[in-house]
Amino acid sequence: MGFPGHPTGQDGLDTRAPLIDPFGRSVTYLRVSVTDRCDFRCVYCMAENMTFLPKKDILSLEELDRLCSAFIDKGVDKLRITGGEPLVRKNIMTLFHDLSRHLASGRLKELTLTTNGSQLARYADELADCGVKRINVSIDTLDADKFHQITRWGHLDKVLEGVEAAKRAGIQVKINAVALKDVNEHEIPDMIRWAHGEGHDLTLIETMPLGDIEGDRTDQYLPLSRVRADLMDRFTLTDIPYKTGGPARYVEVEETGGRLGFITPMTHNFCESCNRVRVTCTGTLFMCLGQEDAADLRAALRASESDDLLKLAIDEAISRKPKGHDFIIDRVRKAPAVSRHMSMTGG
Ligand code: SAM
Ligand code: SF4
Repeated sequence: MGFPGHPTGQDGLDTRAPLIDPFGRSVTYLRVSVTDRCDFRCVYCMAENMTFLPKKDILSLEELDRLCSAFIDKGVDKLRITGGEPLVRKNIMTLFHDLSRHLASGRLKELTLTTNGSQLARYADELADCGVKRINVSIDTLDADKFHQITRWGHLDKVLEGVEAAKRAGIQVKINAVALKDVNEHEIPDMIRWAHGEGHDLTLIETMPLGDIEGDRTDQYLPLSRVRADLMDRFTLTDIPYKTGGPARYVEVEETGGRLGFITPMTHNFCESCNRVRVTCTGTLFMCLGQEDAADLRAALRASESDDLLKLAIDEAISRKPKGHDFIIDRVRKAPAVSRHMSMTGG
């Protein structure tokens, strides 16, 4: 943890130099969690009774803007805002409006959002005004009762209203669905037909063992290799080189003409082309989703009004970005491999 703390220039570091990690990978993609709070309690993500962080620990909207802007100065050109649920953070649109200046200047190529969609009907137009062109909306099932069971507190109709509003606002929507054994496993073909029929890409995600959820993760885990094999009985899947800058591998579904992505951290290692890092809402930078090593950027942010210390802290952290991760669900203790929840780093 931490940053070297030496003033700019003393060690000859260029605070605008691009971010290249020890394995030669350029870091150009930043995911920022703007809150650990959420209006849902998805069973694979959170326990029902979560203790959230005290406000003073959370970066203010101004600090988030400074932090994102420092990364953009250092060559990050894709920014994803996530959470917790980013759209439940008070005044979150201020951050989107502020960050949109980097889109206008051309230094930022893409500003995106991952959301559960509950507040999307309210914010879709404003997001579009801020230059958001693509968003990810998480929907694991199209069965309203099952949706309520998975999210514990969510309502499918509100989310679908949000997706419609985003579409009307001209925002391209990608649907993310976590594949859950026995829960939505048999519904995946219907979800493909629905998503593609509505003009959305669909990405399936394997559950990752992040954080204690008061349950047994080995019960939820469904390898996407199995899902894919089952889908091939019904659909013609053709591998395509389509890339969104994320870890998904895409196929085209011949019968629907749509794209289907697979994110398989448990069965396939996607680390070799990793260009991303993640910051939590407390300003902790994780260089790898599957490793504990982190750097405290909040201390650097709050130590000085200038961004030089912050940029040095970022450089120092990127020099420690590991080669890859090693997710395992501990089948004896059934404990997660990494103790923090996905809602901390935002996926
Ligand atoms: N609340 C927003 C949402 O649900 O889209 C953004 C944050 S959420 C943590 C980001 C993504 O992570 C969602 O698509 C969610 O389904 C996924 N996710 C959460 N916990 C997960 C886990 N343990 N394994 C795999 N994906 C997970
Ligand atoms: Fe909230 Fe997203 Fe986690 Fe569900 S997956 S509890 S919506 S943060």
